[in-house]
Amino acid sequence: MDFELSETQKLIQQTARDFAAKELAPGASARDAESRFPFAELKKMAELGLMGINVPEKFGGVEAGVVAYALAMMEISRACASTAVTMAVTNMAAEIICYFGSEEQKQTHVPLITNGEYPAAAFALTEPQCGSDASSLQASARRTDRGWVLNGTKQFITSGAHAGVSVCWARTGEAGAHGISAFLVSKDTPGMTVGPKEDKMGLRASNTVSLIFEDAELPADALLGEENHGFKIAMTALDGGRIGVASQATGIAQAALDEAVNYARDRKSFGKTLGEHQAIQWMLADSATELDAARLLILRAAHLKQKKTAFTREASMAKLYATEAANRICGRCFQIHGGYGYIKEYPIERLVRDCRVTTIYEGTSEIQRLVIARLLLRG
Ligand SMILES: Cc1cc2nc3c(=O)[nH]c(=O)nc-3n(C[C@H](O)[C@H](O)[C@H](O)COP(=O)(O)OP(=O)(O)OC[C@H]3O[C@@H](n4cnc5c(N)ncnc54)[C@H](O)[C@@H]3O)c2cc1C
Repeated sequence: MDFELSETQKLIQQTARDFAAKELAPGASARDAESRFPFAELKKMAELGLMGINVPEKFGGVEAGVVAYALAMMEISRACASTAVTMAVTNMAAEIICYFGSEEQKQTHVPLITNGEYPAAAFALTEPQCGSDASSLQASARRTDRGWVLNGTKQFITSGAHAGVSVCWARTGEAGAHGISAFLVSKDTPGMTVGPKEDKMGLRASNTVSLIFEDAELPADALLGEENHGFKIAMTALDGGRIGVASQATGIAQAALDEAVNYARDRKSFGKTLGEHQAIQWMLADSATELDAARLLILRAAHLKQKKTAFTREASMAKLYATEAANRICGRCFQIHGGYGYIKEYPIERLVRDCRVTTIYEGTSEIQRLVIARLLLRG
């Protein structure tokens, strides 16, 4: 077993780390306070290749693989989790189109994602009445002479207001998973409106909106993959997306630990620094150990995906463990800050808020357990 990163992986990691430290971290708190979408930062990230890390060079990607993607995601999340979630969903949409799209669909959209002309791309599966149970979605698409007519509402769509293209799921057939198709929906599609921006607990610089379709007209070539085979596209994409969210949580937790270590070195109580109290040392040690365990699970899942072998179980395990560990770590690091942790002047306050949703989106912890147990029982 070789734990050494390749030269390409090290390069992507370092590129993301430098960019995160110099260009993302300084403004993260202000963007959070102002709920300001990171347009300029995303454009620069596209120029660095961070919007198509696992995308073929032919479409403007850097083709550096899934491990490199996970490493970059950890670095960006360490500085600004709002920017990281935008990057994660954009990379995911680019990968979906590359994997399932026609040559024309790839040529039309992917270069605009990777070069930053599209500020972001979106993944629109969730609906107001169904999140975990996505196979019961109600949005519908009907064939017409000119293409498709789409009706329904998509809920909680990351970057929905700014995405150049959204991969969007709708019912085209029978009830359940076998009657769902995927579509590529361009910005400014007639009949599509964007709902108000959600006022969120965390990730406040990311954009989360509903997308409302009222007889929205899509061209015939908007269908992605085969009709009624869209649910498989969503599930395949989510397996990969879970590696991204696990990496995001790990990056946030690393930032929390960095803050707590610094704080424990300086702050004194009972004549010693906090770091000299064994109770605090244990919190730091447990956090560092859990962070490493999370990283190893993530890199294993990423490695398997990169090798094109089955990785569903490993991605769910990585997501389950990393996101729950990250919330424990953020909680401990917050505790180490005492009352100051509760004050917005200290980054730990934002890190705790940003981390919370990682056990919810792209499949809740309960859904990850369901996936893992199902595969286990199936044998
Ligand atoms: C900030 C943010 C960004 C998001 N971005 C996107 C996006 O870009 N695209 C998109 O499509 N969606 C997005 N989502 C939606 C997200 O994926 C869903 O919120 C998530 O899948 C959970 O669905 P739900 O909120 O409907 O909860 P529900 O499905 O209603 O679940 C509620 C609770 O019940 C539990 N539960 C449900 N079913 C079971 C079961 N069978 N067994 C045990 N427990 C169960 C869940 O784990 C959860 O704890 C986003 C959400 C947020 C908050």
